[in-house]
Amino acid sequence: MSELANGPVALPEIGKVNLLDLDRRDLEAFFAALGEKPFRATQIMKWIYHERVTDFAAMSNLSKALRERLAACAEIRLPEVILDQASRDGSHKWLIRLDSGNSIETVFIPEPDRGTLCISSQIGCPLDCSFCATAQQGFNRNLTVAEIIGQVWQASRLLGDVRNGNRIITNIVLMGMGEPLLNFERVVKATDLMQDDLGFGISKRRVTLSTAGVVPALYRLREASEVSLAVSLHAPSDELRNQLVPLNRKYPIAELLAACRHYIADKPHRRITWEYVLLDGINDSVSHAHALAALIKPIPSKVNLIPFNPFPGTHYQRSGAAAIARFHAVLMAHDLTVVTRKTRGDDIAAACGQLAGQVQARGRRRVPIMPVAQVAG
Ligand code: SAH
Repeated sequence: MSELANGPVALPEIGKVNLLDLDRRDLEAFFAALGEKPFRATQIMKWIYHERVTDFAAMSNLSKALRERLAACAEIRLPEVILDQASRDGSHKWLIRLDSGNSIETVFIPEPDRGTLCISSQIGCPLDCSFCATAQQGFNRNLTVAEIIGQVWQASRLLGDVRNGNRIITNIVLMGMGEPLLNFERVVKATDLMQDDLGFGISKRRVTLSTAGVVPALYRLREASEVSLAVSLHAPSDELRNQLVPLNRKYPIAELLAACRHYIADKPHRRITWEYVLLDGINDSVSHAHALAALIKPIPSKVNLIPFNPFPGTHYQRSGAAAIARFHAVLMAHDLTVVTRKTRGDDIAAACGQLAGQVQARGRRRVPIMPVAQVAG
């Protein structure tokens, strides 16, 4: 199944095609291969994403013969939600089982003017950012398109989102587990489905991909997608960033900034969101703030300051309230747009960098996997 997600659409000889792995173009090709007209793709997308119907037998505008053919060669198989935790503040965290031993987490954060769904793109993460809980778990594999879009499908069902009324999910951010640009093709297809009118119909600018800075993939992304971009900067110098985000040793800050500038070039109203986690005594001084401002000022920017969210085993601490306020004020004095992110869902460990799920790591792992009960605690 996962092979089909990336390659050309082939009729299955081995297993059933999961239609959630296919974007609109893939579905048209799939129906063409069945000898059907392209509008079948429109019909089936409406059933899946607008009506949330996954049983071919209930798709009343398809002929009985076609429904039977579909049931024989295809399926609509969603990842399974095994735990739904609601925070006092209205946030939700869902634990989603993918296969034996692996699960991921998806978070919903309601605010007065929007509802943001934070989704994962990989099981674990191969990057080794020193302040991130996911990094400690190591990496298992990329998520399939079905597993990425399936998180949106499940959240939308559980929240009772209505497409044509007041939307509950208005924004989607790829800020959960994993580095989305290391799962490029699948993430692009899944974000296309989020933005497609026949999919979830989320406005283009409200789907945001967050990256630690995989520079070559950023150049490809501009050609392949229209998502908004958030970049995890976290430090104004290569020396410090090398320690926090080891990927920086491969793609240093100057190269990353050039790629970001290119990403929004000739796109009016677009800007880069810079994420900056505030670590006590590490990257939160006034001089760090001035250096950060100098770096990003030439680029249309917004800064998201994220007070560090601790997790078991970390040696970092969150910056104090005074240091956070000072850092924020220095950036404001440079005329930058700055938001200090409020910590939401802290009673259910749903904040940035706390997402863990369960990862059967194949590679490096520095600490034992946290048991689900502890993560869910
Ligand atoms: N790999 C992607 C997306 C996942 S992380 C990326 O690096 O952008 C989403 C955001 O949460 C990133 O900005 C990440 O640096 C931040 N983050 C990770 N651990 C954190 C922690 N413990 N506290 C606060 N933010 C954290």
